[in-house]
Amino acid sequence: MSVITKVHARQIFDSRGNPTVEVDLYTEKGLFRAEVPSGASTGIYEAVELRDGGKDYVGKGVLKAVDNVNSIIAPALIDAKIPVTSQKEIDDLLIKLDGTDNKGKLGANAILGVSMAVSQAGAADKGVPLYEYIAQLAGVKPPYVLPTPAFNVINGGEHAGNALAFQEFMLLPTGASSFTEAMKMGSETYHVLKKVIAKKYGKDAVNVGDEGGFAPNVSGAEESLELLKEAIEQAGYTGKVQIGLDVASSEFYKDGKYDLDFKNPNSDKSKTLTGVELAEVYKGYIEKYDIVSIEDPFDQDDWEAWTAFNTSTKVQVVGDDLTVTNPLRIKTAVEKKACNALLLKINQIGTISESIQAVQLAQSNGWGIMTSHRSGETESTYIADLAIGLKTGEIKTGAPCRSERVAKYNQLLRIEEELGDKAIYAGSKGLSRGTTAPELHSA
Ligand code: PGA
Ligand code: ZN
Repeated sequence: MSVITKVHARQIFDSRGNPTVEVDLYTEKGLFRAEVPSGASTGIYEAVELRDGGKDYVGKGVLKAVDNVNSIIAPALIDAKIPVTSQKEIDDLLIKLDGTDNKGKLGANAILGVSMAVSQAGAADKGVPLYEYIAQLAGVKPPYVLPTPAFNVINGGEHAGNALAFQEFMLLPTGASSFTEAMKMGSETYHVLKKVIAKKYGKDAVNVGDEGGFAPNVSGAEESLELLKEAIEQAGYTGKVQIGLDVASSEFYKDGKYDLDFKNPNSDKSKTLTGVELAEVYKGYIEKYDIVSIEDPFDQDDWEAWTAFNTSTKVQVVGDDLTVTNPLRIKTAVEKKACNALLLKINQIGTISESIQAVQLAQSNGWGIMTSHRSGETESTYIADLAIGLKTGEIKTGAPCRSERVAKYNQLLRIEEELGDKAIYAGSKGLSRGTTAPELHSA
């Protein structure tokens, strides 16, 4: 079994033009490279993303995190001579080297780059694809499951310059029979939507936001939902392509209320709602539109509103800022019945082993799992393999547009082709429905 012989980190750039960490890790089997993503609507309970501050790179440099890999993590890992396939042991060493609860000393961006590269080296050591290796690490049994994609086709919130408060409007091809067909449905609907938007709002309204979705100047969520409904209908996929939302509501929660006009500096605050009122708005939308999933409907600390909504709705309720891929927060959410699905973002927690632990805890409580990119991404395809390896059943990685987004979808197309009839497509079985757990595990 190989050991780590060299580790070298460098600063590269993400899809928003901000610096991020890349790690090169060597064993006798060769070079393994990992890139770290970065969020914009970051939850306050996420592990620390170390940024340099100061003037250079508008404060967003990651040279300190890079140096932490090169001068602290690298020598410690080489000295330890732990087999590269001992992922948990290596991740535990990284956690110990950091010594804080939130990876604030070395930076979760430094630690995650190393942890990802270690798993890629481990897969090569065993001579298996990354998804298969991750499945081995987590004890996941066949059959492999291709996740249902959630294509973010209308961007708002912190990801776009329009007035829209809700961050993401997604298309979920739950009625497809394969991942390939899901891509076809998603991309066709995306292009129909482009025409619908151009006709209504003009050509300059089809510029795209950070995740490849359109960012038209709609008045609010209802207008966006109408656009999706029309596009799905025109594309011929009514009932087969359903709708998901990521409200990312922590971004506009202030003094116990939700301000749907938070991006308007001249707001008269007439669109400010309580949690109870916002829940009524969601229930109205769920009646009227084919919505199957809502993420971060309430603020990361507004537990009461989460529980009241989750225990009275039939849709999937996804925790992102609420749960931050952190087993401790997930445990609290389980106890409080606050949501029924986990958004899996590996940079929220900082190691692959802890991410696996988070997923296992959520799955053992009957939750759905949606693997997720960040709004600041790289060309890495890691999360595609992760979604298969952990049988998460769902993945969101932006619109079927922009290379840093489609890189992940393209990797899933390759994996589907490779697995042939050894894999199934999740479809609607990949989602939680209120109290009904995803059916994947009995598949
Ligand atoms: P972020 O957005 O990467 O900017 O946090 C994604 C999300 O909120 O799900
Ligand atoms: Zn989110």
